[in-house]
Amino acid sequence: MRTHYCGELNESHIDQTVSLCGWVHRRRDHGGVIFLDLRDRDGITQVVYDPDTVESFATAEQVRNEFVVRVQGRVRTRPEGTENQEMLTGKIEVLGKELEILNAADTPPFQLDEHMEVSEDVRLRSRFIDLRRPEMLNRMRKRSAISSSIRRFLDENGFLDIETPILTRATPEGARDYLVPSRTHPGEFFALPQSPQLFKQLLMVAGMDRYYQIAKCFRDEDLRADRQPEFTQIDMETSFLNEDEIMEISEKMIREVFKQHLDVELPSFPRMTYMEAVEKYGVDRPDLRIPMQLVDIADLMKDVEFKVFNSPANDPSSRVVVLKVDGGAELSRKQIDGYTEFVGIYGAKGLAWIKVNDIAAGIEGLQSPILKFMPDEVVQNVLERTSATSGDILFFGADKASIVNDAIGALRVKLGEDLNMLETEWAPVWVIDFPMFHVDDKDGSFNSVHHPFTSPSCTSEELEADPARALSRAYDMVLNGTELGGGSIRINKPDLQQAVFRVLGISVEEAEEKFGFLLNALRFGCPPHGGIAFGLDRLVMMMTGTQSIRDVIAFPKTQSASCLLTDAPGTVDNKQLRELNIRLREQPKADPEVQSGQSKGEERQGEEGRPQGE
Ligand code: ASP
Repeated sequence: MRTHYCGELNESHIDQTVSLCGWVHRRRDHGGVIFLDLRDRDGITQVVYDPDTVESFATAEQVRNEFVVRVQGRVRTRPEGTENQEMLTGKIEVLGKELEILNAADTPPFQLDEHMEVSEDVRLRSRFIDLRRPEMLNRMRKRSAISSSIRRFLDENGFLDIETPILTRATPEGARDYLVPSRTHPGEFFALPQSPQLFKQLLMVAGMDRYYQIAKCFRDEDLRADRQPEFTQIDMETSFLNEDEIMEISEKMIREVFKQHLDVELPSFPRMTYMEAVEKYGVDRPDLRIPMQLVDIADLMKDVEFKVFNSPANDPSSRVVVLKVDGGAELSRKQIDGYTEFVGIYGAKGLAWIKVNDIAAGIEGLQSPILKFMPDEVVQNVLERTSATSGDILFFGADKASIVNDAIGALRVKLGEDLNMLETEWAPVWVIDFPMFHVDDKDGSFNSVHHPFTSPSCTSEELEADPARALSRAYDMVLNGTELGGGSIRINKPDLQQAVFRVLGISVEEAEEKFGFLLNALRFGCPPHGGIAFGLDRLVMMMTGTQSIRDVIAFPKTQSASCLLTDAPGTVDNKQLRELNIRLREQPKADPEVQSGQSKGEERQGEEGRPQGE
């Protein structure tokens, strides 16, 4: 049907007769001549029809935006003065001879070049139109190219691409499961995989040695801006490689992808322990483009009269820190109030500050509402410890350690961005030596920091003697403050796996019931193994410089986990429910607040299926 893509035509095609197929991007009637901007996946070409070609001209009069047409004509240079420098094909045009309407189109819900004013709901509802926009098309193209490179790299490095089941048992990664009722086993459910974790481990037991899969994962969690209920992982697992070797090979993969697609030579990836990351940056995924660090000063504040500081300074579960911001003395009262509000989101009760107007003038050169509460000597010590100089501002965080870490860690990033403090474009880092467990504040129970199959770096005796101090053999790859991927060396002995289950409060019976197949496999010659998984969506998002994860997914879900295009999730008829042995509870009255599109997920919460044995 066609000889060329629209975007590929240039002066080398002059005088050639070409056939193009695509969508009418715009039609302009210049009284006597009709211009069609014809668009396909590759770009746009201008086609001109003049009244000499009677039949085609008449057809050109009928076409409207987004009609699908086939054009045949001759490529020629545009008349002088009418070239379009903005367009790749701007030096040429096609003098149309034939024009065939392949399909008509209703008026689109929005013009393709007016998307900026169009709400995301509208774009998602007509995603097939939204995806026609060059921006979206280019992102899909980039995504495809990135995953091809990744496949190529992994194929060349001996990884086998193996699919694992979607209908399976729960694989815990810390989120709620999506469940699928089984018709053939009344009252029983499949879970959609939160990751292929256990299957990839079984593949190692089976001797596959190196596995990968670009795998869909499903996690029913409260959505945040950069999360989707179903997302794609580059999932890898290897046998007989230690953590250094796994980090090395996956780092090589990411470096190659950046080189190939962005021509960026990523700097070498430093390693940082979890402890150091939290101490210096307040988070386990530090953004190292920003030079500032949190400085602990609890020791200096133990005896000050000021309760805001001395009480956390004397509480081992709290922290008192300073964040020194170079040049921050310029910040206005209003800006400081804004940052105070910002840290409030993370639970901080306030944001104390000291402006250093003139360091040489000692205490006289400082400005702050808190100076009167602190002895001069303490203030001097703080200035020295932070190496403050004239023009700086010091922000203080004093509270439970988790609040200080979250609030001042986030403030650090916000100030870094607001004040243009980014020192490089790309700052990768490996975070290692994570704790095995975090302790629930409320009931003191232990939860896995990664997942329960992660190997500790100690023996099972040491692990059970003091789980809170146990470290894991896990590693996360972090880029610009975003976790790109994470993995670990796995447990390959049943005793150690049982010990971890005990710490997690999983009884022998429950472990057997849920993970019996894994425990069994560990008894049959399970090699030492480990792996990693990267979030493909997030990787593409960073590499295309987009802010929203939805912009790199062809058909994403909304923040409330619904699909506006297909209107999923949807109700099913009673016959289907009966087959599945499900009777619905009476639906609670819908809250008018959550009636509209975006909130559909919540609206349907009351509909959870409940198996009813018949
Ligand atoms: N299964 C892990 C996850 O999805 C990754 C890994 O440990 O390989 O986060």
